[in-house]
Amino acid sequence: MINIAIDGPAGAGKSTVAKAVAKKLNFIYLDTGAMYRAVAYSAIKNGIAITDEQAISEFVKTITMDIAYDENGEQQIFVFDENVTPYIRQNEISKAASDVSAYPAVRYRMVELQRIEAGKNNVVLDGRDIGTFVLPNAEYKFFMTASPEVRAKRRYDELLARGQSVDYDKVLNDIITRDYNDSHRAVAPLKQAEDAVYLDTSNMTVEEVTNFIIDRIKL
Ligand code: C5P
Repeated sequence: MINIAIDGPAGAGKSTVAKAVAKKLNFIYLDTGAMYRAVAYSAIKNGIAITDEQAISEFVKTITMDIAYDENGEQQIFVFDENVTPYIRQNEISKAASDVSAYPAVRYRMVELQRIEAGKNNVVLDGRDIGTFVLPNAEYKFFMTASPEVRAKRRYDELLARGQSVDYDKVLNDIITRDYNDSHRAVAPLKQAEDAVYLDTSNMTVEEVTNFIIDRIKL
């Protein structure tokens, strides 16, 4: 199986590009951030406090998580057989996902699922620790970033387009807080793998970034 790892901070454009690359190559796309979001959402829905590491760690052991693709190829995540996909993109869930993703029990369970998916198919995965921890032997690794302001503007536009009312300064602040959390956790922090290709997308279009990656993949 061929695996392409695309890591980087929030709002770098990973998911848009990973989706486009997967489509062009006819690979599966696995959005690993959505998996942490699904855990956070389901925990909240079950009345578990996000700050309660022990309760979340117990909870994550009991959940069933299934990943499927709809007729448009969009990833759908089911937790206990409920499709949670429509609910996991809210801004509050972003911070909660970052919090639960720091708990080792959550990471180990998600990483186990990610490795299973990557072993079954040719997959483009986007995340924070794919090249460093989940799939250190992935055939291709990229580390995408952009300035915090550019990333905040992209997230802001995305949330607005989804009809959510948001404040740009709050989005920027949330991005900076998440960057800090994601880079400073003990297990598998956000970090560029030594053998990953670095890419600053601040002044690049989605198409340019997609082509940059496609040009480097030899099938
Ligand atoms: O990519 P996305 O913004 O959806 O990810 C939500 C959160 O999930 C991130 O802030 C990060 O804390 C966590 N995450 C992670 N490891 C991954 C993917 C996401 O810790 N591989």
